[in-house]
Amino acid sequence: MLFVALGDTEAIGASCHFLKIDGTGIVLDAGADPNQEGEESLPRFDLVRDHPDWYVDHAVVTHAHHDHIGSLPVLIREFPHVLVHMTRATRDLAELLLPASARLQRRKLREGTTSAEPLFGEEELSLYSYLYLTHELGQPFDLTGIRAEVPIQAELLHSGHILGSAGVLLRFEEDGRERRVFYTSDTNLRPQTILPGGTYPEEPVDVLILESTAGADPEAERTTRRTEEQKFAEALQRVLARGGTVLVPSFALGRAQEILALLDRFKKRGLIPEETPIYTAGALRAISDLYDKTRFVTPRLDPGFQVFGVPQRRLPRSQAAKTNALAEPGIHVVSSGMMFERTLSNRLAQDLVEHERHGIFFVGFAKEDSPAARLMAAAAEGPGTEVVLDAHRGPQPVRCEVERFRFSGHSHRRDLIHLVGQLRPKKVILVHGEEEAREWMADNLRFFYPEIEVLRPSSGEPLEV
Ligand SMILES: [Zn+2]
Ligand SMILES: [Zn+2]
Repeated sequence: MLFVALGDTEAIGASCHFLKIDGTGIVLDAGADPNQEGEESLPRFDLVRDHPDWYVDHAVVTHAHHDHIGSLPVLIREFPHVLVHMTRATRDLAELLLPASARLQRRKLREGTTSAEPLFGEEELSLYSYLYLTHELGQPFDLTGIRAEVPIQAELLHSGHILGSAGVLLRFEEDGRERRVFYTSDTNLRPQTILPGGTYPEEPVDVLILESTAGADPEAERTTRRTEEQKFAEALQRVLARGGTVLVPSFALGRAQEILALLDRFKKRGLIPEETPIYTAGALRAISDLYDKTRFVTPRLDPGFQVFGVPQRRLPRSQAAKTNALAEPGIHVVSSGMMFERTLSNRLAQDLVEHERHGIFFVGFAKEDSPAARLMAAAAEGPGTEVVLDAHRGPQPVRCEVERFRFSGHSHRRDLIHLVGQLRPKKVILVHGEEEAREWMADNLRFFYPEIEVLRPSSGEPLEV
């Protein structure tokens, strides 16, 4: 089997992996790099297109996060015969999020924040959505290409990360022996508030393609969900008690819904006042609706729980109404999680940051140099340190309470090492992590399992595995 990472492997950018198994070409994920625009954000589809023996028969999309699905329309245009596989929840999310991505790309070009032409438009997306084949978790399906010499079977397994997310197990015969390849995608072994932890192959695999997001994060494995929840509840209590407003910048898909479920639990347990208004806005409300509609047919800890069962108000659009909403104690769960410029969370943060009574609480990953990371760094320097949240606004002194809580949708690194022990692969291919993260993972895997070959491919490098 040949493996080529077409996207980024040294950073959390576009996830996209090409496999050539005898006569079949398979792409696992078709992501786009959220830190780039236009062509720059795409995986190296040209490597496959320009190679005489490489082609794409099938693509499997593991979940609807942009770094895993954002270039799917371009993949379909480049390889019109590709059959695209995903879970039904991922398809539902894709039909919501890909058109939103097309509109955002168009808007950025119109507003002059990018010079990159949009990669796809809304009309072609409505055609493509008929091409998505959906599969139940745990139900084998066929991935054999038309030039194939051996049949290939695939199976999707709940990965515990977000609604619809799945790991991919491939089974085929090569040189007369049975081979099993497992791609974890973004994975979480432990339960969150809505989603149960991931499920994994019961028998050993021979190649494991493993994510490494948290590989350089020693803090994550030292915190438990329970103590983190406790700290989060106490911090909310503190801000609300002094009449402040809390902003929780959240990724619209996954994190926001998990946080709403947690706030509901806090209210039910009397940890925060029942009457505290919770505000939500934008796409995350539509995504919450999908979480609710699929609650009996996708893995849940409690299928009875509904995100919209949590009383919440739509954050008003007008500036005056927004200012009113900030005048009384309340909790705002809005995107983006990294507080990128011109998003709702960034604008609210500009209103809150200079006032001591308010709080801005981060609940997810913030990449270096994002406004979220800049705010955390400034807050760590001490009160009054200036931060630039938006270039148009200029520097602002940080006086509000800024905290970070760990509610990752990814497993911490010890759990990933443990998973390798459970799956006992002969080879591990490390992907989806910054260089330092993959290095830690590689060192530790070699230490605990010296018999396993650990590979850290660079983007575009073909590996025979
Ligand atoms: Zn993800
Ligand atoms: Zn990812």
